[in-house]
Amino acid sequence: MKKEHIAEFRFYGELNDFLPLRQRQQTLIYRFSGHPGIKDPIEVLGAPHPEVEMIVVNGQLVGFDYQLQANDRVAVYPAFKNRDFALLVKLRENISPNPRFILDVNLGKLAKFMRLLGFDSLYRNDYRDKDVINIAVNEQRIVLTRDRRLLYFKNINHGYWVREVKAENQIDEILGRFDLYGSIHPFTRCLACNGILESVTKEEVLYRLEPKTRLYYEIFSRCIECQRIYWRGSHMENMLQRFANLLAPKASAC
Ligand SMILES: [Zn+2]
Repeated sequence: MKKEHIAEFRFYGELNDFLPLRQRQQTLIYRFSGHPGIKDPIEVLGAPHPEVEMIVVNGQLVGFDYQLQANDRVAVYPAFKNRDFALLVKLRENISPNPRFILDVNLGKLAKFMRLLGFDSLYRNDYRDKDVINIAVNEQRIVLTRDRRLLYFKNINHGYWVREVKAENQIDEILGRFDLYGSIHPFTRCLACNGILESVTKEEVLYRLEPKTRLYYEIFSRCIECQRIYWRGSHMENMLQRFANLLAPKASAC
């Protein structure tokens, strides 16, 4: 029979969201044999690997290639709000300064809000898990999901389990988690299809406008993908009013 070893695990911050209530903020004993990769026990205990930002074993930073040893003491950390330090051991490539997203089927309203603020956000209400994973991998997109199961798939590199239930709160959660407040560009993306909006003259789109729109509006843009027309004062601007607080300059932390 293989010899059984133990190791101690401690999960920090919001990684505790994935643990059963009684195991949160506790030192957990993990029993194992052989030398499993460190990702296995982390996920068996509850935390999906895309949510893990840093792993410290016996005081040393390690990567996902680390193999667990007998009596290891493992500390597992989530993404840090303050990114002003460089990790010596990175678990994955950094997220690009212009991150691109793919949203799981339950996040349709959030997808619209993200497009409204100018973030490249793919979404379809008939995505299967396989589709989300493949697109995320092929296009290096960050997976946003309300279904935490999805984040345990090994091919997913960047992903995040959306904790909030209401889309109005989810958008704030995502802007904070990915530090996007400085990258908001409203009126640059189509709400319906995620396509880029281009400015067009009123003359170009006149034939497609309702009489009242013709009368009252002068500034128009059109989706380069689905050709939908947007104008100031439209549905889009009304939606944007709901986020006035998000768009206001944030007070500096110091
Ligand atoms: Zn479009």
